[in-house]
Amino acid sequence: MTHTDAVDVLNTIYGYESFRGQQSEIVNALIQGEDALVLMPTGGGKSLCYQIPSLVRSGLGVVVSPLIALMQDQVDALRALNLNAHFINSTLDAESVRSIEAECRRCEVDLLYVAPERLLMSSTLALLDELNISLFAIDEAHCVSAWGHDFRPEYMGLSVLSDRYPHVPRVALTATADRRTREEIARNLNLVGARHFVSSFDRPNIRYLIREAQGSREELLRFIRAFHPEDSGIVYCLSRKKVEDTAAWLEKKGRVALPYHARMSPRERENNQNRFLREDNIIIVATIAFGMGIDKPDVRFVAHLNLPKSVEAYYQETGRAGRDGEPANAWMAYGLQDVITLRQMMQQSNADDQHKRVESHKLDAMLSLAEMTGCRRQWILDYFDEPGSESCGNCDNCITPPETYDATEVAQKAMSCVYRTDQRFGVNYLIDVLLGKRTERIVQFGHDRISTFGIGVNVAAQDWRSVFRQLIAHNFLAVELESHGSVKLTETARPVLRGEQRLQFRRQIAQVKAKREGRSRSRMPVSIAASDQPLWDALRALRKDLADEASVPAYVVFTDATLADMVQKRPESLEEMSMVSGVGDHKLERYGAEFLALVKDFATESES
Ligand code: ADP
Ligand code: ZN
Repeated sequence: MTHTDAVDVLNTIYGYESFRGQQSEIVNALIQGEDALVLMPTGGGKSLCYQIPSLVRSGLGVVVSPLIALMQDQVDALRALNLNAHFINSTLDAESVRSIEAECRRCEVDLLYVAPERLLMSSTLALLDELNISLFAIDEAHCVSAWGHDFRPEYMGLSVLSDRYPHVPRVALTATADRRTREEIARNLNLVGARHFVSSFDRPNIRYLIREAQGSREELLRFIRAFHPEDSGIVYCLSRKKVEDTAAWLEKKGRVALPYHARMSPRERENNQNRFLREDNIIIVATIAFGMGIDKPDVRFVAHLNLPKSVEAYYQETGRAGRDGEPANAWMAYGLQDVITLRQMMQQSNADDQHKRVESHKLDAMLSLAEMTGCRRQWILDYFDEPGSESCGNCDNCITPPETYDATEVAQKAMSCVYRTDQRFGVNYLIDVLLGKRTERIVQFGHDRISTFGIGVNVAAQDWRSVFRQLIAHNFLAVELESHGSVKLTETARPVLRGEQRLQFRRQIAQVKAKREGRSRSRMPVSIAASDQPLWDALRALRKDLADEASVPAYVVFTDATLADMVQKRPESLEEMSMVSGVGDHKLERYGAEFLALVKDFATESES
């Protein structure tokens, strides 16, 4: 009985045809009153897992979320479905809070969002004591883990919920995968008996593209122009300065690009974030400060202009693309300098030795991912304890298998040169020696008289950089911190120098091969035919008008996935419109006729 209720809510309120993955099981467990711990990747559809049970069960659903700035959007999205949702947080005045509390007492509210510190205030707990509560959902639950990357002490207090409301089911949700965090969540939230639902962390709609590129701004622009001329995207940089420069530069090249970093005033940051959420084709250029909890489902690309410090960070950041399940790109460019900088940062860090070892392992893993020649997705899933997947066909290495070559001899030349110059020089100097350049410094040090002087003239400087990058990435060479990036041989270099070990390296790719990479994908942001572009554009324009009118983000009206389904199904009646994924009863009533009219206009145009 309850299961049919849940499916009915899914169909009529959300307009979705069926549950995805483990949603159905999770929803059922909660409806039955069980506790649950849900680990699902970003975009996996966590919200429905608590929203639907809380609608099917009687009473108010309480959602604990740390993201005050985003509560408004979450509530807007629910209101667009004709549900009664509210949030209570510090941005509301006392009178608004009182009136929401009164609505709660009259049992008129479906879902209430609160920040943890607010929930734990005695006045809020006193209110909850009076109410019939259908469930507690603890979102971003990794915030309770000190081991994780975003610890919030307030989350620790949430264990009171189990003592105070023992009969109310609780569900903790997070997109953070590792076992240690998961165990800590269960312990700290007193979710010992809870069922664990661990989904695959694969994001099949995201295409991974990682390339070596120095001066990567131009590469980025080429990529954006080729694949995302009108899309929303996020560009990550390591420093505030690079954020500002890149945003300004992209603006000059004709895109709306807004900076976002920790040193901006909170107001500026909020403004830029809001524009990004509300408008359709904005690029946000950010340090890693940006993105936590950003629910925008139609981010079509995430680009990295620097190497992230770990695969965990890379996966979390790229995971912000394509939450709606439509095709999205995760693009990264990195070069020798990134590798050197990160290696140095690691040495500089104040962490204790144990922690440094962990960090250094994580960086090694990130570099392996960057330099590898096999399927990236397979490697990533394996890294996150999901071994045995097949080659994905949707990463750069699968689409255009990289060329490798026997690099033993060039590596030996490069490393002998390091040795002959007493391991005291940086890569640029070493390349000059290999190329036989008689610079003032080289002559001064007498390095024009050593055996490795000029032995590398048949290899271009650019290619030498690639060789050195790979030698450093694979730990044959270590970068010294004190002496301006001079490099040293490591233990692992010996067998190569002695000729006991051969090396296969990636060949340097000259520039973005836009055509080849894009061959299985049109220029369109989502998976629809190029001939449908005019209708697609018109639907997006209508969506924007309606969203502006209601001052909500465009995706609150309809997501890209819904518009794409509309283009595909070309509904000819309201009945058919209701079959489009994401068109529930309320949205049908509110927007159905207008979108239908537009689709029909295009139908008659193409006939005439
Ligand atoms: P998460 O919180 O796990 O990152 P969301 O709950 O925001 O993911 O869901 C991502 C997107 O997928 C949203 O646009 C949501 O409406 C959509 N979605 C979720 N479940 C389904 C489903 N069963 N069918 C179709 N779309 C779904
Ligand atoms: Zn692949």
